[in-house]
Amino acid sequence: MATNVEQQQSSRHQEVGHKSLLQSDALYQYILETSVYPREPEAMKELRELTAKHPWNIMTTSADEGQFLNMLLKLINAKNTMEIGVYTGYSLLATALALPEDGKILAMDINRENYELGLPVIQKAGVAHKIEFKEGPALPVLDLMVEDAKNHGAYDFIFVDADKDNYLNYHKRLIELVKVGGLIGYDNTLWNGSVVAPPDAPLRKYVRYYRDFVLELNKALAADPRIEICMLPVGDGITLCRRVS
Ligand code: SAM
Ligand code: CA
Repeated sequence: MATNVEQQQSSRHQEVGHKSLLQSDALYQYILETSVYPREPEAMKELRELTAKHPWNIMTTSADEGQFLNMLLKLINAKNTMEIGVYTGYSLLATALALPEDGKILAMDINRENYELGLPVIQKAGVAHKIEFKEGPALPVLDLMVEDAKNHGAYDFIFVDADKDNYLNYHKRLIELVKVGGLIGYDNTLWNGSVVAPPDAPLRKYVRYYRDFVLELNKALAADPRIEICMLPVGDGITLCRRVS
């Protein structure tokens, strides 16, 4: 009979080279320089460089994730979308550039100032007309939306990149608002790698604070029969949820 240790070992990944894929900063740099930066639209480059000078630049979506979102939205022919957590708008611009001319993004953030920092770049790119920005906490807006049946199943894609302690509250509402077959993307689900950190690991205060919420979210998504999921190690981890019922 297999011992506990053997059982644990056999459930671990066995794939040769699995972990080595992104084992170095040089490899990440290679991805950026070989396939991301050369194809990055001028406006996204400008917004990325502008954001890099901002004191909270750690919050921005990375260029490789921006490229991923842009392609994903085109693949699913997204038209009606939502974004919770805008900051200076890098993922918003990646989305706006991917949508058709009559595509829409309902974008929410408690901070309008940072959105307005990036807005001139979005306007210059000719995609600002697709965006409806709402300043304020997202949850009450979602509550109002859920009350109105015409919003049910109205969204092709929803990107959640805001307060991690509310992700499960968002999920309860968003599952009603995304269409069957549509996608919700929850960002930062690997949370700086802290999801596998030992309890006594030295973590930055905000990383430690949100870690348990991210762990709880990941468990809840994995157990939710209304969605299919796929956790991708892009950026800080993004979990795609496809609504199936
Ligand atoms: N997606 C953005 C990008 O590509 O640059 C990054 C978003 S940043 C990681 C998180 C954002 O969530 C911040 O701009 C913050 O103001 C916003 N936020 C925090 N709590 C929020 C809430 N309750 N409702 C809406 N936005 C919120
Ligand atoms: Ca993020």
